[in-house]
Parts: sequence; C-alpha cells; structure tokens
Amino acid sequence: MSRVYNFSAGPAMLPEEVLKRASDEMLDFGGTGESVMEMSHRSKEYQAIVDACEASLREIMNIPENYKVLFLQGGASSQFAMIPLNLLNGSGKADFVITGQWANKAYSEAKRYGDCKVIASSKDKTFSYIPELNKADFTADADYFHICLNNTIYGTKFSLLPETGNVHLIADVSSCILSEPIDVTKFGLLYAGAQKNMGPAGLTVVIIREDLIGKARDITPTMFNYQIHVENGSMYNTPPTYGIYILGLVLDWIKGKGGLSAMKEHNERKAAVIYDFLDSSKMFKATVSGADRSLMNIPFVTGNDDLDAKFVKEAKAKGFINIKGHRSVGGMRASIYNAMPIEGCEALVAFMKDFEANN
Ligand SMILES: *Cc1c(COP(=O)(O)O)cnc(C)c1O
Repeated sequence: MSRVYNFSAGPAMLPEEVLKRASDEMLDFGGTGESVMEMSHRSKEYQAIVDACEASLREIMNIPENYKVLFLQGGASSQFAMIPLNLLNGSGKADFVITGQWANKAYSEAKRYGDCKVIASSKDKTFSYIPELNKADFTADADYFHICLNNTIYGTKFSLLPETGNVHLIADVSSCILSEPIDVTKFGLLYAGAQKNMGPAGLTVVIIREDLIGKARDITPTMFNYQIHVENGSMYNTPPTYGIYILGLVLDWIKGKGGLSAMKEHNERKAAVIYDFLDSSKMFKATVSGADRSLMNIPFVTGNDDLDAKFVKEAKAKGFINIKGHRSVGGMRASIYNAMPIEGCEALVAFMKDFEANN
C-alpha cells in the first residue's frame, strides 16, 4: 500500500491513525457486532458516540455552556441561507466583508432575505488580502456581521477580528476550525463543513449562542430552523451518523496531540516550511503576503501558465496530488490541514527545489 500526500482543499486528508481505527472498528464497533454505519441513530450505542463527540468538541474548543453544538447536513452552503432565515429577523440588516467566493456566496444568499451591506471587499486584487475595516461603516443596528475567517480559495485569514460591539459576529470557519485555538465567546455563531479539517463530507457543525435560538421567521423550513435541531439534540431526522463518528475519532486524535495550541504550533511550522521556500524562490511566488497569510491554504504561482501546468503534472506523478490552484487564482494551492504531516510539506518543498533547478 502506498499513500500519497493529498493537498486537496476538501474533501481532504484525514489522520492515518483515524482511518486505521475506523478500519479496525468497521465490522464490529466496540463489541456491538455492527458497523457504526449500520447503527440506529436512536440506539443507546449511537447516542454514546454523539455525546462523546460533542463533549470532545466542547473540551477542545473550550465552548462555553451557553452555546449549543449542532451536527447538521447540507454543508456550509446551506448555512448561507439558514443564518438569514433564523437571524436576519430584527432590523433585517446585516453586514458582510467580501474576502472571496465563499464570503460572497454567503452575502448573495442573505441578500435575498434582507438588507445586506458590503462593509469592505478585496475583490480589486483577486482577494489576495484582508481589507481594512472602518468601524464608522458598520451598521449599528445590524442583526449580525458576517465574515469568512479563513478564505480557502485565496489563502487569506483574518488575524484580527472586527470589533462589532453588540452586533453578533458570525463566521464561516470551514477551512480553519480546529487548526488553532479560537475564542468562541467573540462569536454569536460559528459554522463549518466537516470535509476540510474535521472529517468526511456530509457533516456540518454549527456552534450557536443560546440567545440566537428561537428567532426563525415563520416561513423557515422545519429542517432549516436551529431551534428544531437544538430541541431534538441534532436528531430531528437522521443525522450524518458516520461523519459524526469519524469527527469523534479526529477529536480524540487532536487531544492525543495536545489540543489546539499544539495544532497551531504544528501548523505554523508546516506553513513556514512552504512560505519560507516561496519567499526565497526565484521561480515560485506566494500570492498572499504578510499577516493575512492562511496557515491552511497556500496558493502560489510561477507566473507562467505552461510552467504551472507542468509542475502540477510532475507533482502528481511524484505523489503530491490535488495541488492545482482554484481556477479563479490559477497556479497551485497547497492545502495543509491538520492531517498533513510536516514531512509532506518538506517533501513538497524538496520537489519544488528540484523542479526549479531543472526548469
Ligand atoms: C468549502 C467551503 C464552503 C462550502 O462548503 P460545503 O460544505 O461544500 O457547502 C464554504 N465556506 C468555506 C470557507 C469553504 O472552505
């Protein structure tokens, strides 16, 4: 068996230890004689899996008591509609920072339900930076202020959070959740699709402060109402049972590694391996500079489309897969979520050095 280094933006690599444990438990989970995939979501065995998963997430992310954790389906993209349906319901106004395609999709969807304002955008330079925010532009009576904390496609992240005062801050954390500690108390709501840094596709995690629950407008589909999912412990309908189980294993793995501070330290070392090389290379260049650089997604280019294509092709042949950049940026992108070992980053840089010397 040989495993590749997978630099995919998502679905992405999972820790090998997690995949092995899932494999060991595939036919007989804990003496039940069945796979987790086959279990009734109403069984006490499965309830124990969900409860343990939630407890681990609360412990690792230091989620306060007054926040609920929901395990949903529909991806981060469903949250683009679920958030305004549930929360754009007081003044009917919300503020958005447009830092890329995902932030823009969140804005475009919310705009269908209320009065949404763009506070700042970095579209002028292909979203290669986090725009400066002027507090005077913020809507004082907005129902919420939405950001995408880490911009998966463009490789930027907010290093400072906007100071929104009494306005609830909401963040899409799909591509940075669990990569470093985050102060949950700064947010009214956090959401993430699991397939970047948590587990398999199909699971969406929502962390919501209690006072934001129960405000959905009347037309909200039952499945899109946070209150329904809270009241039913994420079991209003069948939750993504296997995805929740895998997330539980991933969380155990993170605990074993020392939690989110250790993840941050490890991720900073991994990112530095790649950024340091990019900053010294004559052929390759990072598309983002300075404090806005993401720890998780690193886009880079040679400036020559043919050379980029040759690099992607040769990289694949060497076992570095899914390194082609998003079509809106071009070039390459190395997504290095928690499960990417530092050896993968070092091996990629060694290959890039060879490629530079040979071309
Ligand atoms: C991948 C991604 C999404 C879309 O997630 P789905 O689960 O496919 O809907 C949204 N936001 C960010 C930041 C992402 O990285």
